[in-house]
Amino acid sequence: MRIARFSAGEDPRYGVLDEEADELVVLRGDPIYGGLDTTGERVRVEDVRLLSPVIPRSKVIGIGRNYAAHATEMGNEVPAEPLVFLKPNTAVVGPNDPIVLPPYSQEVHHEAELAVVISRLCKYVPAERAGDVIFGYTAANDVTARDVQRTDGQWTRAKGFDTSCPLGPYLAVDIDVSDLAVRARVDGELRQDGRTSQLVRSVPELVAYVSSIFTLLPGDVILTGTPAGVGPIDVGQRVQVEVEGIGTLDNPVVRRD
Ligand code: MG
Repeated sequence: MRIARFSAGEDPRYGVLDEEADELVVLRGDPIYGGLDTTGERVRVEDVRLLSPVIPRSKVIGIGRNYAAHATEMGNEVPAEPLVFLKPNTAVVGPNDPIVLPPYSQEVHHEAELAVVISRLCKYVPAERAGDVIFGYTAANDVTARDVQRTDGQWTRAKGFDTSCPLGPYLAVDIDVSDLAVRARVDGELRQDGRTSQLVRSVPELVAYVSSIFTLLPGDVILTGTPAGVGPIDVGQRVQVEVEGIGTLDNPVVRRD
C-alpha cells in the first residue's frame, strides 16, 4: 500500500493510492498519528499536487558511505561505524518542487536513497525490533554541495540547505526493502543504479544504531546512504530518484538570481 500527502489548493491531506483507478482514497488525518480511516472521498492523482509524504517533526538523519562502491568512488573507506549526520526539516521538499542550488556552491550532486519513516517515539531499539518502529519507506535525494563538503569541516552547509532533501512521491508501508533497485537519472540519463541489498548496514541495523544516539519521534526520517554514480546537477535539469516499489521522485534544478 502506498500513501500520498497532497493538496488540491487547500490544506494538505493524505490518501491511499488506488493504482488501478489512479485515484487517492482520502484519509481523515495524518496516518502516522491517526491510522487509515477514510472519508469516503476520492480524488484523481492528476488533479492534485503531491507533497512530501512526511514532514519530519524533529529531524532527518543521514548515513554516509553505506554502499561500498560509493565510498570507493569518493576515495573513502567504508567507516568502521555508521557515519551519521543531520539535515534540518527545513531541507525537505516534495515531488516537483525545485532544488535551489545554494549560492556558495559550484558543484551540487544528486544522491538517490531509500528513506525510512519512523512511526513512534523510541530509543534503544534492537535491530530485531526495528520493524515495530518503522511506519514505511519513501525515496529521497540527499542533495549535496560536494565542493563545500570537501572544504568545510562539518557537513551542515553541504547537506542541510533549503531544498536539499526532496522526499516522495509516496510512502510505501508494506514492502520488503531488503533488495530494491535505487536509481537516479538526470534528464533521463541513468546515473545511479544500485540495490538496497548492497547496503553495508541494513535498515534494522541503522534503526538500532541511530536510536542509540537520538530519541526518534514519529515522522523522523533516516536516509540509508547512496549507491555509486553520484554526480553534478545544474540549472535547467531534472533529477529523478526511483526506488522500486515506491515510485519516482522528480525535481527540477534552479538557481536563485
Ligand atoms: Mg547521502
